[in-house]
Amino acid sequence: MRLSATVQKLAPSATIAAAAKAKELKSKGIKVHEFTLGEPDFITPEHIREAAKSAMDAGHTHYTPSAGILELRKAICDAYQRETGVTYQPSQVVVSNGAKHSIHNVVTALCGPGDEVIIPAPYWVSYSALVELTGATPVIVETSEESGFRMSAAQFEAAITDRTKLLMLNNPCNPTGAAYTLAGLESLARVAVERDIVVLSDEIYDKLIYDGSEFKSFAAFGEDVKAKTIIVNGCSKAYAMTGWRIGWTLAPTEVTKAMDNLQSQQTSNPCSISQYAAVAALNGPQDCVAEMLVAFSQRREYVLQRLAEIPGISLATPGGAFYAFFNVSSYFGKPLGPAGKIVDNASDFCTALLEDAHVALVTGDAFGAPGYVRLSFATDINSLKAGFDALQGFLDTK
Ligand code: PMP
Ligand code: GLU
Repeated sequence: MRLSATVQKLAPSATIAAAAKAKELKSKGIKVHEFTLGEPDFITPEHIREAAKSAMDAGHTHYTPSAGILELRKAICDAYQRETGVTYQPSQVVVSNGAKHSIHNVVTALCGPGDEVIIPAPYWVSYSALVELTGATPVIVETSEESGFRMSAAQFEAAITDRTKLLMLNNPCNPTGAAYTLAGLESLARVAVERDIVVLSDEIYDKLIYDGSEFKSFAAFGEDVKAKTIIVNGCSKAYAMTGWRIGWTLAPTEVTKAMDNLQSQQTSNPCSISQYAAVAALNGPQDCVAEMLVAFSQRREYVLQRLAEIPGISLATPGGAFYAFFNVSSYFGKPLGPAGKIVDNASDFCTALLEDAHVALVTGDAFGAPGYVRLSFATDINSLKAGFDALQGFLDTK
């Protein structure tokens, strides 16, 4: 069978592929130190699970409006208003099957062949792939460890051409954990308004902000900025709800109307039961979010301390999310692990580390950052400890 040209060019998601590789080893009975997926290890809080059970028992097991039930779209607007002071109407909300799906629908609604989409690197693996699916061209803007992996307004401005349609901004960022300063964000917002560029602001890690960093939603920089902003967020990270597949978009009505049409043809609606669970997540007590943040914060401290003990590794301290993104290129060309393997790039480094020390990380190559690897610390301290012991053993090149 001949596959479409678009799909032939499509690589699998590197994060999901890395997790699958680790699972394959585990299925052979090998103990794997698994730090691939950005997925909270916590089970979804009880009151949210209960709401899903009640929804099933109440018969909410049918199709819903394609953009999501009104109750959820209202809950999203209320939560956003509460947290940012910015008002959206339910007609400006589309609920999708996870934030990844929201992003896909945004780029499909806005972009096509001939358009350019600015993406600061390192970027989350799916950004470039989803843009390419629309036929548009990703324009990658390199950022450096020294700048904390934050794109400056001057870099943004320099990347704009008359074909630029969109900037995809992820704050805090996967994979680097970079959290923009409010001044830095505002200067990007000013460029977007002056140059008339739409900004997709992926704020899925907005509740995972650590000491010393701050967060402000992109649409909160003024009405003129809000008019150019499309917010993407969801339940996966803050409420440990990755499997429920609920993400959403807040945007000007012309965009949400187009996305609603698209979704009505494509998936009809997100899972009805998950939508009721999401209402409970947003309207219910928020202590669970704070408790998980405390745990993530302790794990981050631990990870930073362990990384500081390993010679030849550098990183920009993550201000948010649950990833450590560190440079391992000083280990290229040296014998590593029990087999003394020599590698010269991050992908081969990850393969050797998995095969010989059973530690699973994701290569920075997938995020547009050669020489780096990503470790997800959304897992318990004991697992992190065992993983770091194994990593240290592998790197002990003496
Ligand atoms: N954006 C970023 C930056 C992410 O890391 C993820 C992780 N999956 C998503 C969007 C999508 O989240 P989900 O589809 O699980 O809602
Ligand atoms: N976003 C998470 C990650 O980067 C989950 C996997 C995915 O959706 O790609 O690991």
